[in-house]
Amino acid sequence: MANEIEYMSLEEVADMLGVTYQLIYRLVRAGELPAVRLGKLYRVSRADLDAYLESNKNATAQGGVCSVCGTTYKTRDSLKQTCTENECEEPICFDCWTRLGIRKCPQHSKTK
Ligand SMILES: [Zn+2]
Ligand SMILES: [Zn+2]
Repeated sequence: MANEIEYMSLEEVADMLGVTYQLIYRLVRAGELPAVRLGKLYRVSRADLDAYLESNKNATAQGGVCSVCGTTYKTRDSLKQTCTENECEEPICFDCWTRLGIRKCPQHSKTK
């Protein structure tokens, strides 16, 4: 039924995403993942979970993660630079590039 709301426990959510219960719990406590509290237990509605996953997917599609410091950026604006090694497209953020002067991803900066 379309108006039937499906609720999942945090354990089920963690299982489904292949992450730890602690991570899901932290997301809920931080307000990142909407959840309702029933007694002592949190329940996440399937619709809220889908919405959360969808927004996260969009964030990584449009933005990215700096290969050097691991910071996640919501847009590509801070990740315009990439590793200077041939064919390597690993993104390097503005901070690492300008302030730290890093020109290569961790993998390539090791091999000299
Ligand atoms: Zn960085
Ligand atoms: Zn590289």
